[in-house]
Amino acid sequence: MIHCRAAEELITGYVDGELTADELAAIDEHLAGCPACRERVVHERQTKELVGGSHREESAPERLRRRIIGAIFGKPDAAAPSVPKLAPNAGIKPIKPESTSICL
Ligand SMILES: [Zn+2]
Repeated sequence: MIHCRAAEELITGYVDGELTADELAAIDEHLAGCPACRERVVHERQTKELVGGSHREESAPERLRRRIIGAIFGKPDAAAPSVPKLAPNAGIKPIKPESTSICL
């Protein structure tokens, strides 16, 4: 029977379904007798759900997009304005070390 430390290393793979048959048998046996590691599995699944659901790419409806762009550029319900392209580093000056003391 494996100990908690060994089980913890397998929990992510267990939740992701990536364990070998031997690893799966070992962690199943451990989880049957260890409420703390079962709790870790629950947390790992919740974390996976949160992370998995957070990177879905959705775009705003066109009307909402126009309202937001209008609010930003002061034109209600305006079409998307063209954004001027800036040259690399345009308007950005390197900060001199002696000028940072002003901020402190
Ligand atoms: Zn355990």
